[in-house]
Amino acid sequence: MRWIIFCKDELLVNVHGRLPEGEACPLPLEPWHHVFRLQAPGGEPYSALRLDTPMHLPGYTQTGLRQAYRLMDAEAYRLAGKARELLHWDAESKYCGVCGAPVKFETEISKRCPECGKELWPQLSTAVIVAVTRGDSLLMVQSRSFRHNFMGLVAGFVETGETLEQAVEREVMEETGICISDIRYFASQPWPFPCGLMVGFTARYASGDITLQRSELRSGGWYTPDAMPAVPGPMSIARRLIDHWLREQGRPDVIPTLKDF
Ligand SMILES: [Zn+2]
Repeated sequence: MRWIIFCKDELLVNVHGRLPEGEACPLPLEPWHHVFRLQAPGGEPYSALRLDTPMHLPGYTQTGLRQAYRLMDAEAYRLAGKARELLHWDAESKYCGVCGAPVKFETEISKRCPECGKELWPQLSTAVIVAVTRGDSLLMVQSRSFRHNFMGLVAGFVETGETLEQAVEREVMEETGICISDIRYFASQPWPFPCGLMVGFTARYASGDITLQRSELRSGGWYTPDAMPAVPGPMSIARRLIDHWLREQGRPDVIPTLKDF
């Protein structure tokens, strides 16, 4: 059994990115702690829980989930992300939204209100992200929410009553003022910050001049493979889209020299 233990939002791992192992939880459990059981098909079993007090386990430190990406193996990282989403949902769904009664777990990933019967499931926030190209250039923007000085891709949350493609079109128009065409699905990625799904697309420039939405973006523009700025790290679908575009441009040589965050 591997143990995915979060203290608030930080994960307990050792310097090699390994999770604690053993049949029993390596830290004392209280009756109010809910332990989630997770397992990839054909993989090892995992248990996951969240503690609200600082943890001291010899050989282990608390690490942010983003930072843990470079240390952990792919399956453990994916399940740690799933665990973070479930733990976030559990912490924020203690009471029924209809009648206010405390709710109870019905399955590993659902709860039910014992008073009115309402079912509760984890709610995913769906977001889209898009690589817009024009000739040999890629549209890149810097969000005001980025803590570091790198350029990313246009992205935003899907609104109610919208298709994914409509969300892509709207976000590009809102953030940069340009019209796009040929919107195509690329790939998707769980985004456990705190509970989301990121859906990636490619698209082509159709018309218009860039007018940045200054309330959301610090900067933005067209970038060619020879003048690439610092870009998001390899854990993100943004980076996968950028790497895919560089390969399409016949410029995979640029990928090893990209400065990422
Ligand atoms: Zn209820």
